[in-house]
Amino acid sequence: MSDARRIEITGVVQGVGFRPWVYRMAMTHDLRGWVRNTSAGVTIHAEGPSAALAAFMADLRAAPPPQAHIHTFDAHVVAPEGATTFEILHSTPIPGAMQPISPDLALCDDCRRELYDPADRRYRYPFINCTQCGPRFTIIQDIPYDRPQTTMAAFDMCAACAAEYQAPLDRRFHAQPVACPVCGPQIWLEAGGASLAGEAALAAAAERLRAGAILAVRGLGGFHLACDATSAEAVARLRARKARPAKPFAVMVRDLATAQRFCHLNEVEMSLLRSPASPIVLLARRADGEPLPEAVAPGQTTLGVMLPYTPLHDLLLDALACPLVMTSGNRVSEPIETENDGARAALGAIADAFLLHDRPIHIRTDDSVMRVFQGAELPLRRSRGYAPYPLDLPMELPPLLAVGAEMKNTFCLARARYAFMSHHIGDLESYAARASFAAGVAHFERLFRVVPTVLAHDLHPDYAATRYATDRAARDDLPLVGVQHHHAHIAACLAEHGHSGARPVLGVCFDGTGYGTDGTIWGGEFLLADYADFQRLAHLKPLPLPGGDAAVRRPYRIAAAYCLACGLDVPEELPLSPQEAAILAQQLARGVNTPLTSSMGRLFDAVSALLGVCTATSYEGQAAILLEARADPQAEGAYAFKSTAQGYDPAPVLAGLLADLRVGVPVPTLAGRFHNSVARLIVTVCADLARAAGVQEVALSGGVFQNVTLLAKTLPLLEQAGLTALVHRRVPPNDGGLALGQAMIAGWRWRVNTRA
Ligand code: ZN
Ligand code: ZN
Ligand code: FE
Repeated sequence: MSDARRIEITGVVQGVGFRPWVYRMAMTHDLRGWVRNTSAGVTIHAEGPSAALAAFMADLRAAPPPQAHIHTFDAHVVAPEGATTFEILHSTPIPGAMQPISPDLALCDDCRRELYDPADRRYRYPFINCTQCGPRFTIIQDIPYDRPQTTMAAFDMCAACAAEYQAPLDRRFHAQPVACPVCGPQIWLEAGGASLAGEAALAAAAERLRAGAILAVRGLGGFHLACDATSAEAVARLRARKARPAKPFAVMVRDLATAQRFCHLNEVEMSLLRSPASPIVLLARRADGEPLPEAVAPGQTTLGVMLPYTPLHDLLLDALACPLVMTSGNRVSEPIETENDGARAALGAIADAFLLHDRPIHIRTDDSVMRVFQGAELPLRRSRGYAPYPLDLPMELPPLLAVGAEMKNTFCLARARYAFMSHHIGDLESYAARASFAAGVAHFERLFRVVPTVLAHDLHPDYAATRYATDRAARDDLPLVGVQHHHAHIAACLAEHGHSGARPVLGVCFDGTGYGTDGTIWGGEFLLADYADFQRLAHLKPLPLPGGDAAVRRPYRIAAAYCLACGLDVPEELPLSPQEAAILAQQLARGVNTPLTSSMGRLFDAVSALLGVCTATSYEGQAAILLEARADPQAEGAYAFKSTAQGYDPAPVLAGLLADLRVGVPVPTLAGRFHNSVARLIVTVCADLARAAGVQEVALSGGVFQNVTLLAKTLPLLEQAGLTALVHRRVPPNDGGLALGQAMIAGWRWRVNTRA
């Protein structure tokens, strides 16, 4: 007597070995029927005794494959079809249906074992992969996830690979990128007009790296520029050729033991490094650790470290005794290169040789960057290994597109309770970056079957993403929702925590720059916010920013302007020429080209310059990052901001720092005290506002909260004050997380409007 069940499962269930696992479960429980991928998920038809069906379904829910994530699981009783076997059927597309797809997955242990097994037919094959690892997002052109819809379509499987691909119990069953040395992609090395293939390419690449050369390496989501991280000359050459004087480089090390020679690692950091996402993890350098050239990460007390995440990287690191600098393979302010031809042209003046392959990269994906704070991830850049895995939203949203910010751009497509945050697009200043943004949006809309009915954008009229949204709204006749920058930051923090939005929270939003509703630049904000709206309850006192955004490159000018505006003498140590000083005084007196800003990021810049830590910058956030690096976290003491009608005035803080600097208090102590001062400001202001507003939760967002020294000082104080703090764990606190908040706010307003 047979019963039957039809089971519909949605979530990340394709490209992760889900159907073979269902097949094995069906065998275990002696059931008949079939399983197939649809463009909405996976459908199972199972027949057998009802007790076996119940046990089968319990197992399906209890222990899915490691990389799978089940979102919904629906089973109905249906009529038996009289099946005599259990089969894996061909995929059926469902028009308009949506299916999350897996991010790229780092080389798994099983494949790594085969990679170094001389008896294996994929011994030392740089593209070995299986259902648990390998490229996904970067090679997928459309759903359902089947080989013809990937960039592997061009490679015809050999008989041996096809047999594995078709054997339900093989660990490469329906592994779409399955390949071997006979039928799959190949590597080669190009240098000085000559070309070497296979093992010879690898050996020559390693030899050149050892000799100090710079290599362009085509990887999973794009090119890296690589060099020996222990060679000061090689690192200096890379910096000079790439015109990247100071921004820290990430380093790829062979294994955790190597990482430990340079850095401290805790359990969470180790498991993050070894996770399938395999991000760059920012680790604390060991005082007693092995030295690296200062040029790898100038002025830093941390080092960005990653492990080899593709077989090609693994083979390369295995052939070398040294860690490699692995930095993005791009020209200044351009997106990373993905194509061989593009890389030859763009990186020809930087790289001495090119390690190339012929597996096309459909979508560019940069390495992700994570920090571990209090035992959990704090994302700084959410890209490879994470995107396009969707975030669960606390409520249903209409299909919409949120275009994000100008810097560190990501966009967000929302549909129902999914938010598809894009990979890192980067700064939208170059034409290539803007083209990559538009292509990325189109790709995501097709991939996830989202036809936006609303467009959300930042209020800044000059953001390229804002212009994209307004142009598109006109073209496609779509409604636009403008979202205030800091409101979006706070909403992003709430959304990732699954906050219902039923009650407002205090939002502390500290960042560099964001367009305020009054047309001035905000960035040191205390908001009472929910998804619907916000009130600006308090903020830093606006101070003049000489030369506007250009001042960001010259923190000493900000420092001088802030001193003058606060009635303090400009310290002689600032590298300000008499001419500059005169112009500055004039600008301030006349209020010419000196927009006012309440930005906390700029206050960090000013203090960094005042203390002589960083007076000129070459990358975003440099002055603040170096100030954190110099700060003694144990330093005692703080200076109080003054509450004024124009906002919280940092004048007493700056005066106190300067006075203590004069009497010889060490800079690390002063930098620590400045952090203490900001933490106390947060807590004092929040305690007052929370009492008055009757709220208890505080969301901390904005780029300043990438600073874990500040977070570590702030959280215990908030807790002592009886407040609950929400910090970022899924999307970055910087502008890379902004689109999520824009999506939530626009979606909320749309719901309210359409209900009314
Ligand atoms: Zn594998
Ligand atoms: Zn093959
Ligand atoms: Fe921001």
